[in-house]
Amino acid sequence: MQVAVFAPLARSFSYLWPFGEQPPPVPGLLLKVPLGRRAVFGCLLAAETGSGEGLKAVAAVVDREPLFPPAMGTFFERISRYYHHPLGEVIAAGLPLGVFGLKREFAPERIYAAVENGREPSGARQRQLLEWLRSHGATSERHLKSLFPTAATVLRRLVAAGLVSLETAANGWPHPAEAAAAEDSAPDLTPEQEAALAPLRPALAGDRFAPFLLHGVTGSGKTEVYLRAAAEARRLGKKTLILVPEIALTPQLVERFRERLDGDEAGGMAVLHSGLSNGERRQAWKGVIQGRIDLVIGARSAIFAPFERLGLIIVDEEHDAGYKQSEGFRYNARDLALWRARLDRATVLLGSATPSLAGFRQAREGKIGFLPLRHRVLSRPLPEVTLVDLSGRPLQGSLSPELIAALGDNLNRGEQSLLLLNRRGFAPFLLCRDCGAVLRCRRCEISLTYYRAKNLLRCHYCDAVAAPPDTCPGCRGANLEPCGAGTERLEEELAALFPGARLARMDSDTMTRRGSYGRIVARMQAGDVDILVGTQMVAKGHDFARITLVGVINADATLFLPDFRSSERAFALLTQVSGRAGRGVLPGRVLIQTRNPGHYVFAAVIRHDYEAFFQQEAGFRRDLGYPPFGHLANIVVSGEKEDPTQQTASRLATSLNQSSGGVEVLGPAPCLLSRLRGRHRYQVLLKAAAREPLHRLLEHLEENPVRLPAGIRMTIDVDPLDMF
Ligand code: ADP
Ligand code: ZN
Repeated sequence: MQVAVFAPLARSFSYLWPFGEQPPPVPGLLLKVPLGRRAVFGCLLAAETGSGEGLKAVAAVVDREPLFPPAMGTFFERISRYYHHPLGEVIAAGLPLGVFGLKREFAPERIYAAVENGREPSGARQRQLLEWLRSHGATSERHLKSLFPTAATVLRRLVAAGLVSLETAANGWPHPAEAAAAEDSAPDLTPEQEAALAPLRPALAGDRFAPFLLHGVTGSGKTEVYLRAAAEARRLGKKTLILVPEIALTPQLVERFRERLDGDEAGGMAVLHSGLSNGERRQAWKGVIQGRIDLVIGARSAIFAPFERLGLIIVDEEHDAGYKQSEGFRYNARDLALWRARLDRATVLLGSATPSLAGFRQAREGKIGFLPLRHRVLSRPLPEVTLVDLSGRPLQGSLSPELIAALGDNLNRGEQSLLLLNRRGFAPFLLCRDCGAVLRCRRCEISLTYYRAKNLLRCHYCDAVAAPPDTCPGCRGANLEPCGAGTERLEEELAALFPGARLARMDSDTMTRRGSYGRIVARMQAGDVDILVGTQMVAKGHDFARITLVGVINADATLFLPDFRSSERAFALLTQVSGRAGRGVLPGRVLIQTRNPGHYVFAAVIRHDYEAFFQQEAGFRRDLGYPPFGHLANIVVSGEKEDPTQQTASRLATSLNQSSGGVEVLGPAPCLLSRLRGRHRYQVLLKAAAREPLHRLLEHLEENPVRLPAGIRMTIDVDPLDMF
């Protein structure tokens, strides 16, 4: 028996099957097997019968039903080879092992929050933890345990004293207000929607891999195309998987599917999300395996949903970085969707208003079908986008006179406005006016963000918090000043400028509680918010009919990140956030504040001209050999001590250079985040015109590994999305 063990080991192992035919050894079974002196979990890959001399026997069968259908074995193997990641870990990452009691990760989260009841705790440890909760808001038990070694006991006492409340995360999702959203009935399709569906119908009825890019401007009704395609797949008796970048941010899309396609006698629908309890997750998983569920909506890990064979995969907002798993096993669910569709001979529909360069290039070259929706539904116009040049202009805080006037007009008319500022907190750094020093995180070499309401400094990379010092730690000067603006400060400025306005803020600081997102969505829909302020979260896919003004506070922040993808990201973000304006009967307008109005990204954003952006950006990428015209893999070496980390990275680069075979080996160089959570980080970037030599070189590295001194780690990121 070939078994992939859930451990970081590159190969699978052979075991004896001691159970005869009861149960039969089918691929996909979850097993317990001996490995060295330990017992580990693993998954049966192939039930070949060999002589098996000297082999150890399988210790136990954990569940008598396979975790995934046999056909998925090939899928997992391919992924493991492509990402150069151990097969067992790939399978473990894709499966809800929690439901089988292996890992606690999937247990419902216990969330604690401070309760103000006028009393104060007794002991120092209780006070410390309570202070932390007061300044951070609701926090999971897991996170608290990682911060406070005695959290379990201390929390129990605080709960008993009524100073801290406990809720289980799975309960709050989705928020009742979301579930009560208006009934959705199918509208008549626009001619463009009809034209997009025309080639999809025969593809769904067929038996071949059929990829499509649905390039629809914001508000063109892409969701309606998804709904019709999914309904058609069901009519044909085929299964559908819908991937969204972040399930909590897409309640409206999930609701539309639920209303239209759940409870249909033909089949059931399941939503896979992190708020499910073990029982719910197990039920959904088994429902898919047993064929009771024919439609799943989920975030990236749903790409591993155990369908025997899929007929349709939809990837909404295919350009979104949320599809990339950036820790541990680093896969991109958007790419995996294409592979899985190929294996299953399925139709795959990638949708976006701002497609990835890779996707659009393939569509242009005719490798995947191109389905354009060039207009908004019901002849609604795209919003008018205007640049506001900030250079040499007097500002009131973060706001130009133009934006202030526009906000005032909107308030008078009773229409909603949305402001994008891609920075949380009050100010992105605290600067010493005397010596020019900036307060930094000790473990991350990154400036600490200042929060005024809670009066604390926080590192956005490791979450460390500290009280702001009274004097500069460098020169003892007393002139520490919060510099720049984050969403917290912007909200304060707005409250001062427009005292009667109803404000709301949406960023990862205010969205900590389950259901808080749903509550804002409900308030927006009910018209209870005049101005919504937020980070990039506010740009994602929402369909609020009454937003008529969108303001971008600082477009340059995204534009000038030191990453070759910064223009692509800025274009997508600006286009997506602009697309939130004027989606209802009232037309919308967009004001973008910048100090670089001549940048080519803006020209394309103003004209809603994706193709112009693509032309220009593709030219740069081609010249430099960057994706989608070249292929990258990023190897990061990290360790607590700098010297051995750097030396290991050098040895790695030397060894790679010796057998590079057509691959450019760049570095080693310190990562942009040269220190993270106390670890020094160096990177070696591999760049090649074709995938083949890149993978050959990585295979060579697997066969001739570089020796890693104690405490030094190495991670391989194939097709990295950012190089920080
Ligand atoms: P996109 O995802 O392309 O930005 P949505 O799918 O959110 O756009 O659709 C925008 C709005 O248009 C939604 O409120 C949707 O209900 C509505 N809509 C979609 N298709 C039609 C149609 N054929 N007729 C009328 N309204 C439509
Ligand atoms: Zn830090």
